[in-house]
Amino acid sequence: MDRLSSSERVHAGRLPPLVDVPVILTVRRPDDGGMFEGDERERLALLRRCAGDGFAYVDLEEGLEAPALEASLKEAGTRTIRSLHDLTGVPSDFGLRLDRISQRPDEIPKAAVTPRSSADLARVLRVIMDRRGKSPDAGGSQMLVLGMGAIGFPTRVLASKLGAAWCYASPASDMAAPGHVDPATLEDLYRFRSIGPDTAVFGVMGDPVMHSRSPFIHNRGFDACGLDAVFLPFHVPDLEGFWQVADLLGVRGLSVTVPHKGAVLRRLSGSDALVRATGACNTMTRAEAPGGWQGTNTDVAGFAGPLRDAFGGTVPRGLAATVIGAGGAARSVVHALSGFGGRILVLNRTPDHARAVAEPAGASFGGLDEAGFKAARKFADLVVQTTKVGMDPAADRDPAPDLSFSGMEIVYELIYAPRVTPFLGRALKAGCKVIYGKQMLISQAMEQFRLFSGRPYPFESLTGLEEGID
Ligand code: NAP
Repeated sequence: MDRLSSSERVHAGRLPPLVDVPVILTVRRPDDGGMFEGDERERLALLRRCAGDGFAYVDLEEGLEAPALEASLKEAGTRTIRSLHDLTGVPSDFGLRLDRISQRPDEIPKAAVTPRSSADLARVLRVIMDRRGKSPDAGGSQMLVLGMGAIGFPTRVLASKLGAAWCYASPASDMAAPGHVDPATLEDLYRFRSIGPDTAVFGVMGDPVMHSRSPFIHNRGFDACGLDAVFLPFHVPDLEGFWQVADLLGVRGLSVTVPHKGAVLRRLSGSDALVRATGACNTMTRAEAPGGWQGTNTDVAGFAGPLRDAFGGTVPRGLAATVIGAGGAARSVVHALSGFGGRILVLNRTPDHARAVAEPAGASFGGLDEAGFKAARKFADLVVQTTKVGMDPAADRDPAPDLSFSGMEIVYELIYAPRVTPFLGRALKAGCKVIYGKQMLISQAMEQFRLFSGRPYPFESLTGLEEGID
């Protein structure tokens, strides 16, 4: 109600009889994330006036004592949702406060808090799970606990798995709270209605990650195979906290993205030869040992596939390639190129990192500077861009603006969102043949899907996959 104009508010009570779904009434104060500008007396009067209008639920805040309003609601048969909000974090006494509001008879306890780290999210999940077994009267199955913002996102998509009575959504064009999911996305991308207690959870973990198209690829595959599984983005600033999240949710498989491909190695109980050779892991599946994870690298093959296609099936030996960047993805790229017998130059903002990637492969290295760009002229059959410069929040930037193209190079950009980065835009303009990041994304995801599901990626889901990623 706080989002309506005063002339609209007069008519709000006409809504419940017109729609065939239960309607929740909220008049939210700014402190709780709302927009109601009047004073508390006006707010309570408005709530009371609407109490008999057929709303199924009214949402009242923790700490609000309004006996007259509560009596009117009871008389009208309207149930109360008792909510606590924290727009800045997860309160240290969160569990206690939730227990306190859970003790109010006939009310549905609700909490909307803002995890700032994966460790915060783990704390929220623990609070939910500790209470989930309780009877509905004690706040068990009727309890609603939602995490706001990108880190809290999994609590929304997994609401029904976590025992929440419902989840909140609003259109992307007019989002009512941070972390709300667009209803169409919730249904089309995550198949929200099909998620239940037994749904297997998979995901991509990174920072940033909310742009990732891996959920689109994998959920589409799960759907076509009829699997009770969902694939989510996990925004992970802190790895240690995230391992708790993964255990609490029983996450079965993970795609690993920027910047964690190297750091996850410490958590692996086993790994394939490519992870050991590159020091980069982009896929984790549960190992047989309790609590263990098996690491696999599908980036090497994922990078090589589209490159082979660009050469009509066989990459010529002695290909002279410049690799820009020296992070986790670059390690896989350099490994694949050495496998093709390439001559390689690695250029990176931090030359020491370039050295660490180049030396084991017998490659040359340098900085992203005049000397580096001069050297690159001799490694110009292929130029591979592997840094994160060109994606959000640096989508308008080029990691090597002084590296010019003759038009004869094949330019391979690993970033897939946006489809054309400033770097790739320059290559296209110069007339270079290009390979888009989404080609590698799809290629590496095919093998991940097999590792996650034990099945090949469903052929029918391939149609329109590239267009869907853009
Ligand atoms: P990472 O390990 O964090 O490495 C990041 C790289 O970017 C490092 O070389 C870093 O240089 C460089 N960098 C960061 N900020 C920079 C700046 N302001 N100027 C110049 N260089 C900068 O990340 P990653 O896992 O390798 O991933 C890198 C990119 O590849 C991401 O955009 C990722 O989405 C993409 N990727 C795509 C696919 C695909 O399937 N299409 C697969 C893998 C990766 P320093 O060493 O100096 O810090």
